[in-house]
Amino acid sequence: MDWNSDLTSVKGIGEKTVELFHKMELYTVRDLLYYFPRDYEKFEEPNTILNCNNSGIVTIHAKIPYQNMELRKAGRKVLFKFYLSEGDKRIDITYFNMAFLKNIFLPGQEYVFRGKIEEKRGRLSMEQPKYYKSEEYANFLNTLQPIYSLTKGLTSNFIQKAVKEILKQIPLEEELLPEYIVEKYQLCTRREAFETLHFPKMEEDVLNARRRLVFEEFLAFCINVKLQKSTDMNLTVVNPLLRTAATERLLEQLPYKLTNAQLKAWEQIENDMAGDYAMNRMIQGDVGSGKTILAVLALIMAASNGRQGAFMAPTEVLAKQHYDSIIEMKDKYHLDIKPILLVGSMTAKEKRRAYERIEMGLANVIVGTHALIQGGVTYYDLALVITDEQHRFGVRQRQRLQEKGDNTHILVMSATPIPRTLAIVLFGDLHLSVLDEMPVGRLPIKNCVVNTSYREKAYQFMQKEIDAGHQVYCICPMVEAGEMENLENVEDYAEKLQEHFGSKARVSYLHGKMRPALKNQIMEDFAAKNIDVLVSTTVIEVGINVPNATVMMVENAERFGLAQLHQLRGRVGRGKDQSYCIFINGNQNNKTTERLELLNKSNDGFYLANEDMRLRGPGDIFGIRQSGEFAFRVGDIYNDSGILLETAALADEIILAESTKILFPLLETFRAEVGNEVDFRSI
Ligand code: ADP
Ligand code: MG
Repeated sequence: MDWNSDLTSVKGIGEKTVELFHKMELYTVRDLLYYFPRDYEKFEEPNTILNCNNSGIVTIHAKIPYQNMELRKAGRKVLFKFYLSEGDKRIDITYFNMAFLKNIFLPGQEYVFRGKIEEKRGRLSMEQPKYYKSEEYANFLNTLQPIYSLTKGLTSNFIQKAVKEILKQIPLEEELLPEYIVEKYQLCTRREAFETLHFPKMEEDVLNARRRLVFEEFLAFCINVKLQKSTDMNLTVVNPLLRTAATERLLEQLPYKLTNAQLKAWEQIENDMAGDYAMNRMIQGDVGSGKTILAVLALIMAASNGRQGAFMAPTEVLAKQHYDSIIEMKDKYHLDIKPILLVGSMTAKEKRRAYERIEMGLANVIVGTHALIQGGVTYYDLALVITDEQHRFGVRQRQRLQEKGDNTHILVMSATPIPRTLAIVLFGDLHLSVLDEMPVGRLPIKNCVVNTSYREKAYQFMQKEIDAGHQVYCICPMVEAGEMENLENVEDYAEKLQEHFGSKARVSYLHGKMRPALKNQIMEDFAAKNIDVLVSTTVIEVGINVPNATVMMVENAERFGLAQLHQLRGRVGRGKDQSYCIFINGNQNNKTTERLELLNKSNDGFYLANEDMRLRGPGDIFGIRQSGEFAFRVGDIYNDSGILLETAALADEIILAESTKILFPLLETFRAEVGNEVDFRSI
């Protein structure tokens, strides 16, 4: 067995179960070993009914009652209900489709119930709590139990078993890092790290284990960025492009003036492209800061030099949006450019036609998706490559697009708020322009952070907006019902909402696991106003522009990082109407509330990212991945920013101290074990 072995080679995983793993995008032994629990549950001392909290997750020790058990049908569901009581405090317990419990819960027996307790109309209730016989629970007491994100049909237990098998067979003994580093930074061994993360004993060990893996991952990444920087950054010689009056003319005709930040960035871009060396620049600017117009100006400059520019977006919807707005500007401002769209869903015939025009130079502003870097495309004379929301693309994709030309200029645009200290590390091979100023005259979004009891009111509010012809986004953290019954999931939620609104609103849903064609269709339907409420995971966070959407509601907002919530918020407030964000906080602890309240105070993504990092501190590692975009296997650029900065400094030292004889084998091993993408993927 090695890191790349198929999961079917693991004892206990057969043809059927492997499908379930595939559903979670786990294919190889490596994938599974790096699939860490998203949280650990601590089996704490149970409470009595009288002493337990009236909200949040509780663990209650109670006797099964002698009467009041009730089994009945409700629609397609079978309800099994009873209540636990002590003194005059009473907790209603409900299980769905678990009629067999009637024969398990015997009157007078002692059980421990664990789950979310809620107070509704003065009554305390728990739905589907986990249950343990008293003796059974005593065995778990004070241990940590891993909780994995799951799909229907898989259990945390099963995953643990499979991991155990893998750990028996996979060679993990070799230390990849030089010994002096292991010592200096007090890293545990790799075997310890994996064993601890999947089979934890103490909380402290978990932190340390994780730190080890984050450390090596970031270190490999930093060494790579720095090596690349010294090779490619500057000095690729190109034919300078001439500045053109066409860009000046466009700027004069626009209905608005560029902000100072935009002007400065444009000046930098223009200088780069007029210079002797290839541009390697990143524009970083919050959502709505006006990056697109800079891309358009750069594309015009390439085109008026008789050359081509390509503009690559991460989704078809976004590519089409860019294309449409470029066409609109071309017509309105009489731009002398020849735009063309190239996306995967075009028919073979349409694509062939596009290829021809691109190859013959009949099109000079080429807008599209990944289709732009497919084998079939040959460019006539590609001088400029722009990627939008670039963190979604790996460096290799960027390189492939660049290779389509001869020493092309590169401009990447990102809305991910990253504090400058981190950006310098992450994008070490790029020059940075920051749009830290918003266009004037935007109606600020109105925010509120509320608890779940506000939900009904929120729905009423949505209905009002829908009646006024507007549209609504609703974000849930999960795709389908999983093990953690207290998290909202997209599919059930959409059903619930549709039931709630009845014929008064059209509800649909979207998540990352859908077929791309279906995803596109739904996004287009939403843009075309055929859908009123779109329930979605965070897949919608990428630059989509539906100005008619005025409400963004986020369920379980506590599960998201502030930076990510801010990205989500950027999907509304894009039109002329007042927009609203409703963040539902499903966890009432003070720290979470304090953190979410920051969203009320600031509309500045950079500030939020920084504050989030500060508030959470290094110990708070589970549950939230801030930066889904930076797909590191273990590390998270915000939560682990300290390690990132530490390894960046260390990378400099290593590069100076070690000969390449040591460096390159080190990186090779990382690549083999951690996976190919680790070091190139995120920038
Ligand atoms: P993002 O940076 O999120 O990609 P866009 O480029 O989509 O932002 O710009 C958002 C909106 O702001 C667009 O409708 C654009 O026309 C407009 N816009 C851009 N720059 C300015 C400006 N300086 N003043 C006013 N509106 C602007
Ligand atoms: Mg944009």
